[in-house]
Amino acid sequence: MSVEEAAGLLAAARRVFVVTGAGMSAESGIPTFRDALTGLWSGCDPMTLASPDGFEANPELVWRWYASRRERVLAAQPNAGHLALVRLEGRYEDLMIATQNVDGLHGRAGSRRVLELHGNILESRCFREGRRLEERELDASRVPPSCPCGSHARPGVVWFGEALPDGVLGEAAAAVARCDVCLVVGTSGVVQPAASLPIWGRAAGAKIIEINREESEITLAAHVVLRGSAATVLPSLVDRIAAVRNASEAS
Ligand code: NAD
Repeated sequence: MSVEEAAGLLAAARRVFVVTGAGMSAESGIPTFRDALTGLWSGCDPMTLASPDGFEANPELVWRWYASRRERVLAAQPNAGHLALVRLEGRYEDLMIATQNVDGLHGRAGSRRVLELHGNILESRCFREGRRLEERELDASRVPPSCPCGSHARPGVVWFGEALPDGVLGEAAAAVARCDVCLVVGTSGVVQPAASLPIWGRAAGAKIIEINREESEITLAAHVVLRGSAATVLPSLVDRIAAVRNASEAS
């Protein structure tokens, strides 16, 4: 299966839905979930670092892990794959990105229609009330900083066992149900409900294109599989779409 085939599907599409995961940002220097548990954090269990129970049990440890990930995100830049998706958005009236990433890099690259399924690591929320906290509200003399209500601040991300932000899943489900092509980039396809989006798209008639370095849980459902890295494959795919469209207009 080839870039040519994927470009043909995208050139003929009117509506496109893109699902991205941690592999999308790997070449920006942001570790995937598996890779983030190396080094200092190698002994830690994901459920301890990314669940409400884990936070309650050890808020300082969890806050420090997220603080180290925030630093990586702040130092990172969008890669050629993020920039290719900005170009792709310019080709369609209806293109939506639903990302599992919490790094905000699609928005920083310039994509305008982005659903952050799992929140944003640069934001903080009150652990008790759930409301979003502004930086000036945080008592930064503590670790974790505290909310004016006395509870801890927590990272503004979705943890295991938590619901997605209000309305976001419904918006993503509606967009994937109406798309002609669903492009799935750099996700292992194991985290629900995000992993179901391409499956719902396929059930509604969409063609599925996967871009991933390795086989994933999405691979079997994909019509076209492009093995390679997001920052390499996406730019060449977007270039090919332009070539396919030009060729069909000329003929
Ligand atoms: P994952 O870590 O489970 O899987 C990453 C996938 O990306 C793998 O299938 C891998 O083969 C692929 N991959 C790795 N490098 C790639 C590259 N350069 N190009 C293309 N594919 C590549 O990630 P997931 O499926 O997103 O699920 C993990 C969870 O962890 C998500 O819920 C997400 O919110 C969170 N997370 C987010 C970030 C981030 O914001 N950048 C980073 C780590 C984890």
